Amino acid sequence: MLPDRLSEAINKQIHHELQSAYTYLAMSAHFENEGFDGFAHWMEMQHSEEMMHAMKLFRYVHERGARVKLVALEAPEVRQGKPIVVFEQALETEKANTSAIHELYSIANELKDYATVSHLKWFLDEQVEEENSIETILAHMRIAGEDPSALLLLNQQLGQRTPEADDGEE
Ligand code: MG
Repeated sequence: MLPDRLSEAINKQIHHELQSAYTYLAMSAHFENEGFDGFAHWMEMQHSEEMMHAMKLFRYVHERGARVKLVALEAPEVRQGKPIVVFEQALETEKANTSAIHELYSIANELKDYATVSHLKWFLDEQVEEENSIETILAHMRIAGEDPSALLLLNQQLGQRTPEADDGEE
């Protein structure tokens, strides 16, 4: 069985991942409305990623014989402005998620629940990738600047994103 404190902390993280997924879905809708179909597609893929993270933890809680408790999500807010503003918000979303994973990791360590520590390692690596891929997009957006053709090319590139494999872990 999972210690209660850890079960609560993982449930909190499930909520965090679902809330992130919801935010990315709103960002996808935002870009769809703005005519950036490629950015909309990228955000939709990002939504799927976050759902996959939530489901990994959802299954883990059950594997450990504990209970999943779902709570209400907040209405997501997307910052209005140029595409770069939305991607900056995406980076902040990921950074907040990284901090939440770190906090959860430290609770698992403190409680010497090494199975959870091991399970969370995948998430630590994943966050490095998530932040890095958004940093790269932001760098490209800064280079594109006010040039509409460069921005449309970037839109086209991000429209090519394919779903990531679940690492075949479970
Ligand atoms: Mg996540």
